[in-house]
Amino acid sequence: MAEFKVTPWDVEGMVDYDKLIKEFGTQPLTDELLEKTAVLTKSELPLYFRRRFFFSHRDYDLVLKDYEEGRGFFLYTGRGPSGPMHIGHIIPFFATKWLQEKFGVNLYVQITDDEKFLFKPNLSFEDTKRWAYENILDIIAVGFDPDKTFIFQDSEFTKIYEMAIPIAKKVTYSMAKAVFGFTEQSKIGMIFYPAIQAAPTFFEKRRCLIPAAIDQDPYWRIQRDFAESLGYYKTAALHSKFVPPLTGLEGKMSASKPETAVYLTDDPEEAGKKIWKFALTGGQPTVKEQREKGGNPEKCVVFKWLEIFFEPDDKALLERYHACKSGALLCGECKRYLIKKVQEFLKEHQKRREKAKDEIEKFKYTGEL
Ligand code: SF4
Repeated sequence: MAEFKVTPWDVEGMVDYDKLIKEFGTQPLTDELLEKTAVLTKSELPLYFRRRFFFSHRDYDLVLKDYEEGRGFFLYTGRGPSGPMHIGHIIPFFATKWLQEKFGVNLYVQITDDEKFLFKPNLSFEDTKRWAYENILDIIAVGFDPDKTFIFQDSEFTKIYEMAIPIAKKVTYSMAKAVFGFTEQSKIGMIFYPAIQAAPTFFEKRRCLIPAAIDQDPYWRIQRDFAESLGYYKTAALHSKFVPPLTGLEGKMSASKPETAVYLTDDPEEAGKKIWKFALTGGQPTVKEQREKGGNPEKCVVFKWLEIFFEPDDKALLERYHACKSGALLCGECKRYLIKKVQEFLKEHQKRREKAKDEIEKFKYTGEL
């Protein structure tokens, strides 16, 4: 197995997720927990859970217990607005929507325009604020419940400062350095930032559950170190894998490498061309060989994207797997199928995104419920 690296700012190589669970000290998302989720929500699990795109957790067992015993919980997630959002960014939001809908809980979405300004040397504050607006439209377009969803942008929601202060008194420089790897050149705003990011986990006196990609987990380890000393719960988390870039199964999609990603604002026609040109398949070099030997869906990005999001029908996915293995299916047909699915998704998303422009105010969090 090739070496891999997962940090909050970098994902490299072919990630071994079982190894990552051990490295990060998290827990696997077991059949038992998923069955309990289905029973408590009286629902069939969505593909993100069925197919283990979400594969690991911290204290999700306690979240379910709290729900079962009437204490409830709330959801918190976020977005660093440094550019346009792509397919890989939005999938965890769909899983979050499912959790909100089925458990009927509040969701807080932090838009960290201040963080992106501080951490990205080439971004102006104006840029991050502009991206905040654009990204909020994409998030609203997912279809969250406006009565239970509270979106706030750090630079506007100044009440967060008051909540960050008691946290800032608990987090030492070495705790923050262990996560962010600060150097002598790090700006002082960066050093304070973990306090701002941890504050929403205290918005309610219930357990907080954060659904996010696993590279974000180190941020919450800081919160878990001091939360109980302030009279709050350690935050719980559900961790997803990464959506692979179009160009290969290693690493994750990158907003700065357009050929690796499909952006939510891409013209559907252009997105189709991009997939056709760049999507890596596990096919053989010639049609003859493909017919004789079959393809490798395990090494195929087209198959992965279908598995993660674009083919919700389990039976159809399994049939595609076998048709690929047997050589009955050719990569061109398969790519065309994915393109059709992605284009349908983009068209619908972009319609909802347009509508979201009139709905922003309904979602803005002012600090009052
Ligand atoms: Fe991938 Fe489809 Fe080609 Fe198989 S036939 S390798 S699943 S693109």
